[in-house]
Amino acid sequence: MKPFIDPAELWQHLNDARPEPGQVRNIIARALDKQRLTLAETAVLLKTEDPQLIEEIKQGARDLKEKVYGNRIVLFAPLYIGNKCSNDCKYCGFRASNKFAVRRTLADEEIIREVEALEDNGQKRLILVYGEHAQYNAEYIAHTARLVYEVKKGPGEIRRVNINAAPLDIEGFRTVGRAGIGTYQVFQETYHPEAYTWYHPAGRKADYEWRLTSLDRAQEAGLDDVGIGALFGLYDWRFEVMGLVRHTNHLEACYNVGPHTISFPRIKDASMLDLDPRYEVSDEEFVRLVAILRLAVPYTGMILTARETPEVRHEVMRFGVSQIDGGTKLELGSYSDSLNEEQNLNREQFKVNDPRSLGEIIEELLDNGYLPSFCTACYRLGRTGEHFMEFSVPGFIKRFCTPNAILTLAEYLVDYATPPVAAKGWKVMEANIRAMDDEKMSREVEARVERIRQGERDLYF
Ligand code: SAM
Ligand code: SF4
Repeated sequence: MKPFIDPAELWQHLNDARPEPGQVRNIIARALDKQRLTLAETAVLLKTEDPQLIEEIKQGARDLKEKVYGNRIVLFAPLYIGNKCSNDCKYCGFRASNKFAVRRTLADEEIIREVEALEDNGQKRLILVYGEHAQYNAEYIAHTARLVYEVKKGPGEIRRVNINAAPLDIEGFRTVGRAGIGTYQVFQETYHPEAYTWYHPAGRKADYEWRLTSLDRAQEAGLDDVGIGALFGLYDWRFEVMGLVRHTNHLEACYNVGPHTISFPRIKDASMLDLDPRYEVSDEEFVRLVAILRLAVPYTGMILTARETPEVRHEVMRFGVSQIDGGTKLELGSYSDSLNEEQNLNREQFKVNDPRSLGEIIEELLDNGYLPSFCTACYRLGRTGEHFMEFSVPGFIKRFCTPNAILTLAEYLVDYATPPVAAKGWKVMEANIRAMDDEKMSREVEARVERIRQGERDLYF
């Protein structure tokens, strides 16, 4: 395949952009009219420096989120399966040359214990994470995904397993697809080929194109829920946003479906970190880039992780984030086995900056008027491309997403919430049911909530 990222083209757009107030406002209006932005339009937003216009861009993203997606936030947790790694990414604590890292791969019984602990907290959606190593091949990834689906503790079960692992070949993606995974995520880290080569000096990951085309292979293998991402802090953040938008256009053009999710991890402290300080992304720039991404690709899920502090998460969430992790622990085996700080030190890929429990995160979401959701309905009913449907099918959110958010929250409140969180949760839920404008639907949701209170589980629309 011809490489679809042309750095000169992306820089040309950025260099040519001369933001004028009228032009910036037209572009925001186009996004609010649910049009995906072009590279040239994205570049104009990225080059805008006038504080008043930046405020309008952020307000545009807030409006778009409210208008299109409403107040739901989907929750998930990462589960690190193994940190052996034959690559040497300069930013990652798991890099092969980090001799301090304690290497470990969870045994099957350990995976089961971890999943049980996650289910005991109320989690329903996981992303399994692996280093890049011969041991973590497609068969192994598929095996671990199946294992996770089989673990059922009390009322708990994992209903969607996503994967963040090394790129596979087409046959490998087929193998993993047969295990019933949800999204396969591969982050390009940086879309700039030279920067990429500098950060990835060794191992399979040194091959920029093999990584760039990985999600094309996933599509060829029939895996159409794919997640893209860039690791912010490696290279110019404006260029990376252009790369993400170009990658999106490419997937849309070739497969008629854009990425299921976009992730925008920002580099965090890790053991043996080796970075170029020129590219550090400030909190202000981070908020701005998330707002611009929301406007540029209005139909895609956006994921914000516990790499960020609670304060940054609180702020950024308003600009169009649809999924966050909660109760996150990155040290291998730590959901079921709590280690002390010192033991943790060399077991993490990087530092978690939002160490709050799932319960605490849910409480904050409820306090801020969000509707926490553990919904997995679309994926299980074969409604793939659900973010696109939420965005493009009139009434989709009212008919499916909000009711399913309410039903999955009801399960959480009955099974796992502390009494104060439960009290807040029922109030928020009732307010959301009252706000429904379809009386028949609100009665049906109430009836199903009652069935959940009586012990039924896994009801969805
Ligand atoms: N090993 C696989 C890979 O590299 O694609 C998958 C797992 S890797 C552990 C998941 C992601 O974590 C990477 O793609 C990278 O974007 C991110 N990451 C690595 N080091 C990081 C750091 N110091 N701070 C924040 N994110 C980091
Ligand atoms: Fe290995 Fe992934 Fe870390 Fe790179 S980012 S060193 S491939 S675990």
